[in-house]
Amino acid sequence: MTAAFLLAFRLAVPQDSAVLLVRVLDVTDARIGGDAILITDSSQGRARHVLLDGSDRGGTVTRWLASFGVDTLAAVILSHAHADHYGGLDEVLREIPARAFIYAGTPRTAVTYRALLGQVDALAIPVITVDSGVRMVTIATRGDSFQLQLIAPPPTCRALRSRAGSAINNCSLGVRLVRDSFAMLFPGDAQEEELGWWLDAYRSLLPAPVLKAGHHGSANAMTDAWLDAVRPEAVVISANGRQHPFAEVLELLAVRRTPAYCTADHGTVTVRVPRGGGWAVTTERAGRCRVRRG
Ligand SMILES: [Zn+2]
Repeated sequence: MTAAFLLAFRLAVPQDSAVLLVRVLDVTDARIGGDAILITDSSQGRARHVLLDGSDRGGTVTRWLASFGVDTLAAVILSHAHADHYGGLDEVLREIPARAFIYAGTPRTAVTYRALLGQVDALAIPVITVDSGVRMVTIATRGDSFQLQLIAPPPTCRALRSRAGSAINNCSLGVRLVRDSFAMLFPGDAQEEELGWWLDAYRSLLPAPVLKAGHHGSANAMTDAWLDAVRPEAVVISANGRQHPFAEVLELLAVRRTPAYCTADHGTVTVRVPRGGGWAVTTERAGRCRVRRG
């Protein structure tokens, strides 16, 4: 009886109480890399998890999620319709129940993309489409919460006809995670065109102490104007290890003395946000970001 009680108690207590965790997962074994980011709020009661993108390798992501004890996802967010972001989500959704699917609604004819949307429909997962303006989603645990500010891509994305990679990147859903004074910004793979549109339309929403670099640390997704608006104190780069990050991006950050963390070199990068303020970055292994292209 006592043993059973203790087991139940341990299962109910999150692994790391009193913190919000943002884990930029190392998916560098994936064929084309990509992004997969797990947000976990375990500060009060049962932990809540949100997955932002699923890389192109579902097995890697589901193993990560299992290692962190994720049995339900409060939401799955897809930044944009490229396979290095959605390719692994079918396996994730087969393995783990999701309470909501959030995306920008960008139309695309790719068979695998349409299959994913069909799977979401078949599983009867409620869909939140953010194709205009800014939507706020609050993820609440008992006595605590964090907000996701969802920043829509430009209106032209609602009827996207182009199949060019840059056009789809420039239809990324922006996500700004906020809890108390902490914020972290995730611009998907938005390139200069969409970043410029956000700078004009939503500049006041952009400041964040931690930035996930756009487009895996590509030069077309990092500019002085963007950094002037976001003013990050740390930048995390989810890179595939073969062609990212670019030299120009690491140079830009070095000039500003902004620390950079790369999944290709540091493994999974975790941002820990204790309740009561402050934040810290920890990495799976020691290292420094290495240029892959430039
Ligand atoms: Zn990508």
